[in-house]
Amino acid sequence: MLDRAGIDIFKDRFEQYMAFVGSFWEGGVRINTKCETNVPGLYAAGDSSGTNFTGPTYAALGSGMAGAAVTGYRAGQSAAQFALDAEGPSISESEIARFRDSVNEPLKRESGFSTDHVLTRVQQTILPYEVRMVMHEKRLQAALTMIEFFRDHFLPKLRAVNTHDLRKAHEVRNIMLGAEMQLRAALFRTESRGSFYREDYPRRDDENWLKWVMLKEEDGKMKLWTEPVPKEYWGDTSLSHEERYPLQYQA
Ligand SMILES: Cc1cc2nc3c(=O)[nH]c(=O)nc-3n(C[C@H](O)[C@H](O)[C@H](O)COP(=O)(O)OP(=O)(O)OC[C@H]3O[C@@H](n4cnc5c(N)ncnc54)[C@H](O)[C@@H]3O)c2cc1C
Repeated sequence: MLDRAGIDIFKDRFEQYMAFVGSFWEGGVRINTKCETNVPGLYAAGDSSGTNFTGPTYAALGSGMAGAAVTGYRAGQSAAQFALDAEGPSISESEIARFRDSVNEPLKRESGFSTDHVLTRVQQTILPYEVRMVMHEKRLQAALTMIEFFRDHFLPKLRAVNTHDLRKAHEVRNIMLGAEMQLRAALFRTESRGSFYREDYPRRDDENWLKWVMLKEEDGKMKLWTEPVPKEYWGDTSLSHEERYPLQYQA
């Protein structure tokens, strides 16, 4: 459906709603219309895929299941095709051993922070309504300060008690990284747009912020910058938010 609409989601990035509740329209691994990621042989579908086709607000009810069904079907087809043509992987024994060691590291620790403890602390920091939904620089900064502390002090001492817990340890690491990225991006965007609401910048600011916020790792730090949203995606910016997104305001 996306290529029928003339959208190449691999190149054409859309602004994303930032939240941790988990749903297809909040981002994920960026894919193209074949559900390929930029890692050959890795495909993503459903909530784990970043199609971004709704922009900064939830365009239509039911898009979650529709998106999951379409991307699931396509990812399956593409992955099967890749498997047919692919040669066996070549990886050295030493590389496997190094990878196994690093994956199992939390299992080997005899004492440390439990995964449940760290997960609960992260959730308590980033999920409250006054941090996540109604945002303000001071509260976002306070949450970021805590996340940085957890990252530096809890993660290096994360302890898994069994292999189920090991899965959680890796999820907690990823959640921590996602939390930091989202808080930094939220602090960076000094306006409100769609479902993204900053109490200290309550207005949409198309002049300065019709842009995507980009993040990447550089020299061990998160670098942030903006890229303009291409004009063909703008729509009629003279309309009010209510007129642009009528579905959001239906009784
Ligand atoms: C509260 C809520 C209401 C929603 N309402 C609607 C709605 O009205 N209409 C709509 O269209 N969409 C709705 N959505 C969105 C929709 O439910 C999702 O977009 C859709 O279910 C995503 O499907 P999925 O297969 O990608 O992921 P999921 O349905 O989350 O499936 C992922 C599966 O993977 C399993 N899993 C996770 N980790 C592992 C692992 N390590 N090993 C093995 N298995 C694992 C999970 O247990 C899960 O069963 C709603 C979502 C929520 C949260």
